[in-house]
Amino acid sequence: MSGALSAVGRVLRESRRFVVAAHERPDGDAVGSTLALGRVIETLGGRAVLYNADPVPEPYRFLHGADQVVSAVEAEFEVLFVLDCSEPARLGPGGAELVARAPMVVALDHHLTSRSLGQLMVADPGAAATGVLLWRVFRAAGIEIDRLAAEALYVAVLTDTGSFRHSNTDQEALALAAALVGLGVDPARVAREVYATAPGGLELMGRVLSTLTLHLDGRLALVRATDDMFRRTDTVAADLEGFIEFPRSVAGVEVAALLRPLDGRTVKVSLRSNGRVNVAALAEKYGGGGHHNAAGLSLDLDPAAAEALIEAEVEGSLGAPAASRSGAGSPAR
Ligand code: AMP
Ligand code: MN
Ligand code: MN
Repeated sequence: MSGALSAVGRVLRESRRFVVAAHERPDGDAVGSTLALGRVIETLGGRAVLYNADPVPEPYRFLHGADQVVSAVEAEFEVLFVLDCSEPARLGPGGAELVARAPMVVALDHHLTSRSLGQLMVADPGAAATGVLLWRVFRAAGIEIDRLAAEALYVAVLTDTGSFRHSNTDQEALALAAALVGLGVDPARVAREVYATAPGGLELMGRVLSTLTLHLDGRLALVRATDDMFRRTDTVAADLEGFIEFPRSVAGVEVAALLRPLDGRTVKVSLRSNGRVNVAALAEKYGGGGHHNAAGLSLDLDPAAAEALIEAEVEGSLGAPAASRSGAGSPAR
């Protein structure tokens, strides 16, 4: 592992033109990792095109470089960094082409469902966030980071640990946060920026939470969002961030799911587990992925059929004997 970390450090020092990309519909780890690495490349004297298939969500736009993220790469480059995922398709519609075009691919991923990708890869499901993997690279390579990069890394670890509450919150995540505060990050200011609610956000939350239903003797909780809810509250899907923690927190619930329309006939399903069910394994069966306790997938089904499928799958996982629940109890989120 440490060999790979130093090797990634060498690539950072010895190359000049980079593309830094992360998964589509980026979360705080995807955005924070992209911007932190972009900033480090900038301070090392290189040039980085920051790529994402989707726009940077409002809560992360205060970060340095957020306005530089583009959804097309025209210029030639030497190295493509793939962050917080390791499948070309997770980069969005242009992902496969971008990977195919890249003279060299370096992937950093912490998902349980990560695949081998590129010439160099750092994959560790024990890392709380991709931001933690970047920090390991910077330390192994002796690369010092400034406050702007530190702020982006802080957002990565803050959001992927659910504000240091999820089971992936470990000593390394907290030590990283402390080190970043030492580099000038103001935790209260970042929390205010990241967790500020959109004007219609609470109304959206009320509408979404009022759809709560419990299934399987209270072990599965479902909530739904519809396009109509977004329209009426003038919000977007990114404003759903964190809502799934409420159904997950209901006493007795093992799995929580949030369903929303993606486009046309596709339903996007977010899954959270309280530990017994490996939702990454469930999601992977249908082309999705994630962590033991947090995963996502898309289903080309109508909402009712999607719900029935999730219920049947969760019932199957809950019923399985303990020995066949691979990875149960793993600390990865
Ligand atoms: P979400 O429910 O979208 O917040 O995602 C929870 C976790 O699962 C995150 O770590 C995502 O990166 C991962 N994830 C979500 N959707 C997918 C997918 N379609 N394929 C692979 N991983 C996913
Ligand atoms: Mn992510
Ligand atoms: Mn992540």
